[in-house]
Amino acid sequence: MNIILLGPPGAGKGTQAAYIKELKKVPHISTGDIFRQNIKEGTDLGKKAKEYMDKGLLVPDSVVVELVEDRITWPDAKNGFMLDGFPRTIAQAEALDESLAKTGKAIDAVINIDVDFSVLTERITGRRICRKCGATFHVKFNPVKKDGICDICGGELYQRDDDKEETVIKRLNEYQEKTRPLIEFYNKKGVLININGQQDIDAVTKDIEKALK
Ligand code: ADP
Ligand code: AMP
Repeated sequence: MNIILLGPPGAGKGTQAAYIKELKKVPHISTGDIFRQNIKEGTDLGKKAKEYMDKGLLVPDSVVVELVEDRITWPDAKNGFMLDGFPRTIAQAEALDESLAKTGKAIDAVINIDVDFSVLTERITGRRICRKCGATFHVKFNPVKKDGICDICGGELYQRDDDKEETVIKRLNEYQEKTRPLIEFYNKKGVLININGQQDIDAVTKDIEKALK
């Protein structure tokens, strides 16, 4: 099954991906995670992406499309994949369709996690991530047992640079202008599944599970 997780920054895509990847036995491909890994390793791709990410802007389509086109050909994606944070523009979505069509594939389900804009800033600024295993927590909505320490692997938690309030506003603007039109794009194709993202994390997971059955 080829799945896309759609939704504004902070909707809960990464959080839900951790469950769905086990359920559907597909790799979780997060373009944001790939960029952050490249920044950590100091690669050319990381340097290029950082220029945009620090400003809360989208990385140019050409850079992201090339990256995803390659990633979905890896052996672990042979029987399906789950994209998180891609596509983010109509041009990216069209390029993905074209690329999949070459091998007779298509997107089967687009899970749109719907959350009111008013709660996103608090979700994003309170997000904390494990440096070691990448698990996502929240200071208020999904707190760890021991301050600053990951419940799963004991790693150190950190706050993403672009999760500071001043950058968040720009990221939400980019979403409104460039990514939101994808809801209608996939609705027209008949693959859109709307999920109420404004419930407990477990309730959101259950709704997604039901929808993907
Ligand atoms: P995205 O990947 O869409 O940017 P995340 O999965 O990282 O979003 O979630 C953003 C923040 O909100 C995280 O700190 C996460 O723990 C928290 N969160 C995720 N889902 C919920 C939810 N249903 N209710 C409250 N907080 C949530
Ligand atoms: P995320 O981890 O999904 O919140 O993404 C973090 C940042 O990475 C975004 O604000 C963008 O700068 C960049 N990014 C991730 N995915 C894409 C994409 N598909 N297109 C353009 N930029 C992206």
